[in-house]
Amino acid sequence: MRFHWCLALFPIVSASAFQLPFKAPFFNSSGQQSRPLARPRVAIIGAGAGGTSAAFWISKAQERFGIDVEVDLYEREPYVGGRSTVVYPYDNTSLPAVELGASIFVKANKNLWRAVDEFNLTRRDFRDETGLGVWDGEKLLFTTTGGWWGWWDSAKVLFRYGFQSPRRTQAFVDSMISKYLTLYSVDTPKWDNLTHLASSLDWTHLVSQTTSEYLKAEGVSDKFIAELVEASTRVNYGQNVDEIHALEGACSMAPTGASAVVGGNFQLFEQFLKRSRANVYLNTSVKSATVASGQWVLDTDRGTETYSAVILAAPWHSTNIQLPAELSSQIPPQPYIHLHVTLFTTTLPSVPAQSFNLPASTKVPPMLLTTFEGARNGGKEPEFNSMSYHGLISEGEWVVKIFSKEPIPQKWLLKMFDGKIGWVHRKEWDAYPVLPPTDSFPNLKLAPGFYYVNSFEPFISTMETETLSSRNVVDMLLKDIFDSGICGLAAPSNDTAKDDYVFGWDC
Ligand SMILES: Cc1cc2nc3c(=O)[nH]c(=O)nc-3n(C[C@H](O)[C@H](O)[C@H](O)COP(=O)(O)OP(=O)(O)OC[C@H]3O[C@@H](n4cnc5c(N)ncnc54)[C@H](O)[C@@H]3O)c2cc1C
Repeated sequence: MRFHWCLALFPIVSASAFQLPFKAPFFNSSGQQSRPLARPRVAIIGAGAGGTSAAFWISKAQERFGIDVEVDLYEREPYVGGRSTVVYPYDNTSLPAVELGASIFVKANKNLWRAVDEFNLTRRDFRDETGLGVWDGEKLLFTTTGGWWGWWDSAKVLFRYGFQSPRRTQAFVDSMISKYLTLYSVDTPKWDNLTHLASSLDWTHLVSQTTSEYLKAEGVSDKFIAELVEASTRVNYGQNVDEIHALEGACSMAPTGASAVVGGNFQLFEQFLKRSRANVYLNTSVKSATVASGQWVLDTDRGTETYSAVILAAPWHSTNIQLPAELSSQIPPQPYIHLHVTLFTTTLPSVPAQSFNLPASTKVPPMLLTTFEGARNGGKEPEFNSMSYHGLISEGEWVVKIFSKEPIPQKWLLKMFDGKIGWVHRKEWDAYPVLPPTDSFPNLKLAPGFYYVNSFEPFISTMETETLSSRNVVDMLLKDIFDSGICGLAAPSNDTAKDDYVFGWDC
């Protein structure tokens, strides 16, 4: 899951165009006093992890302090969840739902972990799903009967890569996680820009170099980096180790407690909304945001509405929302990885070895990850980033998921699976940001009363971190409007030392 200190200084020349809508007298751009709204109104744009959790965090403050605020959430799609959504094989809802977008969160993701428990949802644990291989486009470099979820200390890993590389990589990931967990403590840093957050977590050096640069300097072998680490960055972010920054590289390798919600992760986001007091408008695009008389005016498919504050919870470049130049100029161009997801069912329990030109006795593992190393050395690039079996949908029929940079031709699928293909579903996503090393990130407060949740994505891009970003943004908004915060201004309770204390939930 990345930031611009100089951009935090909103240009003085344009500051007069954005008057503080709260606490301060209300002035319009001509300096005349304007009438405040009878009651503060907040608009949230986007019903993914970021927007739904923002509505939830505001409702927590409403519960705690009885603040009087009206919240409207706009979503252009007909469903809640954004990049977290499911489909059903053969469109048959009596078959198990299959994740089309975000699939997994981990134990360190304390907001989602906690939400599953509070909302009486059921976690599915991936620990038992075993059998993994690394494919370079021509050769199966490594296979294990263990899973992705605990490969570090398996005998096969130690045999192929030695002791030091897995141990050093594990130490790197553990150190990243232990700092990450401070984001849930009562002393969590609150950030007004991500460069500051990187610095307060001592991660500046991680976001400013590639995963391979960082690990090489730590003494991790080239082979380990090119095979197992790259397999992780490619399956999680569709990027190679010499492209993606080391913080996101570390996140790719932190699968401890990998879980999903039975029936679909989107239910977490539905529940966030259900438990909020927000008015939810699906099938409703926001087209523009402007400032008039010190308020934010949104032009939406439902007409024009006026708000005290706006939370933008979608990657701005994908929204088609017109923003004043003073705001849009603070969001640098952000390319996203365009990912092809191919879901299909097959009656073959595994990919036949001959499909990969492997000896017939080879058992192709159910989860195939890939490395670019073959292509780097003049070989053939794998046709996919990952190919994984996702269980049975009925007796003798399995569902398989492929992530790839290019569309997977039907002909190729039929050839690989010996013609035994049933249902096929394809989806293209702008899945996650391209994540090169950087020293600057978009601002999260683009103007007084306008907050940008997805500023977090070039830092870390996951469902969970969007809920962390929304918590930080809501905290800032509550301070701006009510001179309060998500947990109020009272001294923390005695419970803050509890192991399972989660800031935002337990205050
Ligand atoms: C294939 C895939 C696999 C992934 N795997 C994982 C994973 O295993 N684990 C993980 O944690 N993350 C994963 N991710 C990343 C994860 O999905 C995202 O980081 C996270 O869901 C982003 O949430 P968000 O709310 O910020 O944005 P989104 O989920 O994109 O939500 C933004 C919402 O805003 C709406 N919107 C946009 N413009 C407008 C407008 N003008 N008006 C109204 N509404 C608008 C969109 O329709 C969308 O619903 C994956 C993503 C993909 C695509």
